[in-house]
Amino acid sequence: MSMTEPSSGGRFGDFGGRFLPEALVPACLELEEAFRAAWADDAFRAELDGLLVSYAGRPSPLTEAARLSERLGVRVLLKRDELNHTGSHKINNVLGQALLCRRMGKRRLVAETGAGQHGVATATAAALFGFDCVIYMGEVDVERQSHNVFRMNLLGAEVHPVSSGARTLKDAVNEAMRDWVASVTTTHFCLGSVMGPHPYPWMVRELQRVIGEEARRQCAELLDGGVPDVVVACVGGGSNAAGIFAGFVDTSARLVGVQPEGGAAIGRGLPGVVHGSKSMLLQDEHGQVSEAHSISAGLDYPGVGPEHAHLASGGRAEYPSVVDAEVLDAFQLLSRTEGIIPALEPAHALAWVVREAGRAIPSGSTVVVNLCGRGDKDVAQVMAHLGHER
Ligand SMILES: *Cc1c(COP(=O)(O)O)cnc(C)c1O
Repeated sequence: MSMTEPSSGGRFGDFGGRFLPEALVPACLELEEAFRAAWADDAFRAELDGLLVSYAGRPSPLTEAARLSERLGVRVLLKRDELNHTGSHKINNVLGQALLCRRMGKRRLVAETGAGQHGVATATAAALFGFDCVIYMGEVDVERQSHNVFRMNLLGAEVHPVSSGARTLKDAVNEAMRDWVASVTTTHFCLGSVMGPHPYPWMVRELQRVIGEEARRQCAELLDGGVPDVVVACVGGGSNAAGIFAGFVDTSARLVGVQPEGGAAIGRGLPGVVHGSKSMLLQDEHGQVSEAHSISAGLDYPGVGPEHAHLASGGRAEYPSVVDAEVLDAFQLLSRTEGIIPALEPAHALAWVVREAGRAIPSGSTVVVNLCGRGDKDVAQVMAHLGHER
């Protein structure tokens, strides 16, 4: 299997597609055409590459985690995307979509956010480009993440609380799409992961591919032309995983996407349609979408990008899950062995490596872990979980 362009209509095997109300189809077609042209345009690519270097801080290093490796008996290499401006991989996607927005002659961005990370990244790009920006966020999340709401306001964005449904991420996506239908001539919908209707899963993966391409080059240098045995990333919607997998899908490397136990759409979910595409989805016995639960708000999404469903069904990638206690242990272990406090999301990827080193990962293997976010945002939450233990 490869990670190339999906079939016309945006199909990745049985998954993906464009399941939309009539009103949104022209907007998706316009976006697909604009992205295809931009992605084939050297000037667009050069401008994006320039921003990734001068604004986001790329390339991110690949760091040998020597003390952790010694502890685990496998060689761990960390892809340091937590060093990007705004603290995660989200900026890669958002800068690309902001450039595309300007290229389409629009000057307003709308986006959904759950924990607030994608909202902050989008507000950041809007400030950089001088765009208007509206972020839709469930009321429950607005309350839980008031700090991020303030950050978005500082960056000049309006945050619209969403009171429908469960008042969380899924409902925020619906509201952002509703805004987009009504304002499509002036507005681009800046979706935050490899989900939604075609062309989003393909476009966002291409914008995150830079992670995998850099890591592939860095591995070749470090491993004398070789490739790692395993490439591991956490999976919420699946954009950071898709980005790093894209750099290794044509090699012998095992690709592993780690899900939270309470959000394991691949494994516990069933095929279904949400937010305009078909994928694996957590559902109740009536086919209603269920809420995902994990210690990390960034992975609380009941679905997964359609390309991951496809990679799983074809056996090219594996999607195990880990529980919160394992994540908290991995969070502390990396902090103490390497002096790097990870976000709780990539702590899922690390937790799987810690659990499986010497088991599903043979001793002596080389493992690349995508460290897609930094832990500053999670320190208070982890402190509350650990209480007075230490
Ligand atoms: C948003 C976020 C995620 C989840 O999104 P993916 O599309 O699965 O990558 C994971 N890690 C961090 C640090 C995030 O901010």
